[in-house]
Amino acid sequence: MSILKPYRFYPRESIERRANQILQRMQATPNFAPQWPFEASLVADFLDLGVVWDHIPPDSEGAIAARILPDQRLIEINEEILEKPQGFIESTTAHEIGHWILHINHDEVDGISRQLELDLGTDDAAPAAEEPFVCRATAGFSKIASIEWQAQYFASCLLMPRYILEEKRTGRDLTKWSHLYKIRDELGVSISNLTNRLQEFGWIKIPKGQRQIYPGHAAIDGQQRLFG
Ligand SMILES: [Zn+2]
Repeated sequence: MSILKPYRFYPRESIERRANQILQRMQATPNFAPQWPFEASLVADFLDLGVVWDHIPPDSEGAIAARILPDQRLIEINEEILEKPQGFIESTTAHEIGHWILHINHDEVDGISRQLELDLGTDDAAPAAEEPFVCRATAGFSKIASIEWQAQYFASCLLMPRYILEEKRTGRDLTKWSHLYKIRDELGVSISNLTNRLQEFGWIKIPKGQRQIYPGHAAIDGQQRLFG
């Protein structure tokens, strides 16, 4: 068994359910109730994962935003992303947590930890360190591989659960940028994360290359029901 689970397809609902389960478990644990603006490092804490900032040099394929070292239960975030817009850090941390939940074989990690404890103080070679997951800051998600998409989708479910967005949209006009920026600030996410999520729900539609926000199909259907 490898520390990485074999590739599998996760339906969106299944990724969303996993994110919601973590939020519910946190809600039920003293000092871990999730709050918005959201801090993804609290989730890492809850899952007993460390988060450190470090200089991660680019490799032959380019810049690296973050990586996870499963056998050390450690998420490393490139300190260079401190300069990125608001929400990027939360999104990156949540993305790495997504890899931990969806792609890493926890039994194997525990086995390695036990093995490392046993090996402590001996000269025996430690178990081979596994390759970390390396994640890049990509411009568009269309190009990234499926597991990267899964981790990012998990991140958006974790940072912007549907019930919180239902709450935040109340009394607001989602076709106004000023209202979206307020919601963004209250959630602690980036504006592009937020508009992607809202478009996924069909609450708004922003045609490619435009600034104009239109009501999405779910919003239109809702109105038709209301007036039909
Ligand atoms: Zn990744």
